[in-house]
Amino acid sequence: MTRYERQRHRMVEYQIRRRGIRDPRVLGAMERVPRHQFVAADLREHAYEDNPLSIGRGQTISQPYMVALMTESVVPRPDDRVLEVGTGSGYQTAILAELAREVYSVEKIPELAERAKGLLSRLGYENVWVRIGDGSTGWVEEAPFDVIVVTAGAPEIPAPLVEQLGVGGRLAIPVGSAYHQVLNIVRKERDGIRKVEGTGCVFVPLIGTFGWKEKGSERHS
Ligand code: SAH
Repeated sequence: MTRYERQRHRMVEYQIRRRGIRDPRVLGAMERVPRHQFVAADLREHAYEDNPLSIGRGQTISQPYMVALMTESVVPRPDDRVLEVGTGSGYQTAILAELAREVYSVEKIPELAERAKGLLSRLGYENVWVRIGDGSTGWVEEAPFDVIVVTAGAPEIPAPLVEQLGVGGRLAIPVGSAYHQVLNIVRKERDGIRKVEGTGCVFVPLIGTFGWKEKGSERHS
């Protein structure tokens, strides 16, 4: 085992499994994806710590536990088609790509989208498509999706995302103010949607047509 593999194994055990994430597929994906490659070289030694880290442009790679929790809450299955809004570093994208058939990911900052795309391809993920744009409107050409994961905080649940969810589909999205949100899990049923509110969380803001307005939204978390 390399040093990073040891650190990753400890991360999964102490930060994730012992906090209640039990889905073996999710735990397996968290063991496999080399999180240290998704941060800049000078942050690698911190990649397996229990917090988010900067990925530049005022954005962050989410805390490992939050990635695991969001992933477990949407129950990705091997045949699923997934939409991710907020590619960022591409780390959550990789976790989803380990568990589902296809992952479509939208990132609004071109530099981050390009970097994530290159890394995911170097790591051998062939079932991932990254697009530059406003993911608050979804990815209508590829809809419907079985799973949608939004990794930025929204003022409310964007209607296009609910529309682009297939029947039986699951959507995870942090909803709240620009500084604090609650993880919402939405399930689309034949006769409507069911929503469950989960844990409190802090994500960078979702900026876009169905998110926050660009102006004054810079965050440095
Ligand atoms: N899952 C990522 C999280 C990155 S932070 C990771 O763990 O690395 C959230 C990302 O959402 C940021 O990169 C930000 O630029 C992006 N974002 C914010 N609003 C967006 C929007 N409307 N469409 C697409 N991406 C958006």
